[in-house]
Amino acid sequence: MITACSQCGTLQDLIPLPPGTTAFCSICENPLERTSGRGIQAAFACASSTLFLLFPANLLPVLTVSMLGMTRVSRIGSGVVSLWTHQWVLVAVLVAAFAVVLPFVRYGLLTTVLALILARRHPRWLGRAFRWAIQLDAWSMPDVFLIGLAVGYSRVAANLPVTIGWGGICFIAAALLSMLSRAALDRRTVWRSIELDLPALTAHEPLISCTACDLVMPADAEGTACPRCGLRLHSRKPDAVVRTLALIIAAFVLYIPANIYPMSTDVQLGDLIPHRIVDGIMELYEAGLWPLGVLIFCTSIAIPFLKLAGLGWLLISIRRKSRGRLRMKTRLCRLIDEIGRWSNTDVFTIAVFLPVLQFGGIVSTQAATGITAFIGVVVLTMLASRTFDPRLMWDAAREGGP
Ligand SMILES: [Zn+2]
Ligand SMILES: [Zn+2]
Repeated sequence: MITACSQCGTLQDLIPLPPGTTAFCSICENPLERTSGRGIQAAFACASSTLFLLFPANLLPVLTVSMLGMTRVSRIGSGVVSLWTHQWVLVAVLVAAFAVVLPFVRYGLLTTVLALILARRHPRWLGRAFRWAIQLDAWSMPDVFLIGLAVGYSRVAANLPVTIGWGGICFIAAALLSMLSRAALDRRTVWRSIELDLPALTAHEPLISCTACDLVMPADAEGTACPRCGLRLHSRKPDAVVRTLALIIAAFVLYIPANIYPMSTDVQLGDLIPHRIVDGIMELYEAGLWPLGVLIFCTSIAIPFLKLAGLGWLLISIRRKSRGRLRMKTRLCRLIDEIGRWSNTDVFTIAVFLPVLQFGGIVSTQAATGITAFIGVVVLTMLASRTFDPRLMWDAAREGGP
């Protein structure tokens, strides 16, 4: 089967792999297909269990906090309700999408697609549904919310008695299974299983590959819908450089207020205490929870900055038609795309402790200006890394010389 590398665009003939092997691109060393430790049955088992557990995880109580005879109970969606009622509408909508709605959509689609493949049924919309399941992968974040839950729990437990309910236990299981199902799924194997009746490609005719599913088609099909996944066929992602640059600039502008303004404001015995990202890290450090402090430093300050700097470097190297370190740059590009979603940890931490820390003037907390700027940085940098097309670095290098 002729296939195209999603990172460098090189066409290569890939035979069906025996179990327990990985095929790498001969040019950029990107893993093309992995059968070791992966399989459609395993991915289906993990995805369907994740979907099943998401229901009790969202319906049952996650945290319970008691103080002076008052009790506060929270569910996964309680943070969204708190943010919404305090007019943080944009943050509420994004947290609801990432933590509640999109996990259901993503794991619902994935379970359906894998079940149909296992039952050898191939409705026409199967490829389209699988493309959506893949595209929603980065945006559905039960695993990131789990880390936010751990940090939020630690911050509350440092001062108040807090217990984890059945909703919390189901959520932890669902998030761990979601990580397993990401690890067990090989996209190329699933794409290979979605059968198509296409005329054979003739040798030496110009070819293009789909930017979503890597299906190889004759070049004159450009602009039509991909017969497998339904996305419009383009040889490269359209206007990738300009769009990525615009998104990086917008994210950089928001990066400054995100770090200067407080993410939340605490009330303790009537005093207002603003909480910037740095203050949250210091508080965790002083409470002896320095590993969590290091984690928040990495996800909230270091990763967004490295993403902006890294993507900037990749854009400059396209502009300069650079031929140096292309394999390293390709790996960097994959890494940036993979780690971006973890920056949401701090926002989720606030969404976790916001609904339970509501004891009037004694101890309570509110979201603050920085949180909107910060979630803006995360979303814009994620969009930037998705809009960027690493194939352009290889094209530019080929233009630059042999
Ligand atoms: Zn490659
Ligand atoms: Zn396609």
